[in-house]
Amino acid sequence: MQYPEPIAKLIESYMRLPGIGMKTATRLAFTTIDMREEDVNAFARALISVKRDLHFCSVCGNITEEDPCEICQDKTRDRSTILVVEEPKDVMAMEKMKEYHGLYHVLNGVLSPMEGTGPEDINIESLLKRLHDPAVKEVIIATNATAEGEATAMYLSRLIKPAGIKVTRLAHGLSVGSDIEYADEVTLLKAVEGRREI
Ligand SMILES: [Zn+2]
Repeated sequence: MQYPEPIAKLIESYMRLPGIGMKTATRLAFTTIDMREEDVNAFARALISVKRDLHFCSVCGNITEEDPCEICQDKTRDRSTILVVEEPKDVMAMEKMKEYHGLYHVLNGVLSPMEGTGPEDINIESLLKRLHDPAVKEVIIATNATAEGEATAMYLSRLIKPAGIKVTRLAHGLSVGSDIEYADEVTLLKAVEGRREI
């Protein structure tokens, strides 16, 4: 017996989420059926809104409702430092620490020959454009300590250094393979303070 089409479609949609298999998707679909209609409507609106109302900041690549984003527009931030991360959620993690007051650049990915992701597939060109601003003195590369994150850091370093800008990398208080988004605030702060030139 097959599920009625609305349920089958919902199961199929849930299965598109990472880490969700058939069993979990089916459970979520039936949970949705049991939810109050207003909650389901709010859920559907939230899904549509993240695609319709969020954009990438044209300066730093972070997700934002307004362009440029709040951080890029903030005149009180230190414009001499740009901290480069892989994903918007890494910016959230750094901001929670409340100790970093410079700017960010979000690559929205990482170089990965295995997955066919090259420099033109991630947000590198706009980073190089930002370096023309004479206020920029240091680029802190805070990609994750994975093979791809390290390779991306080295690639960026080779591109940026000839411009006479200091390039640093977060200290390895973050263990190999660990993600910035999961690091606690003290570890993250130590990693920023202990950054070394590459
Ligand atoms: Zn921005």
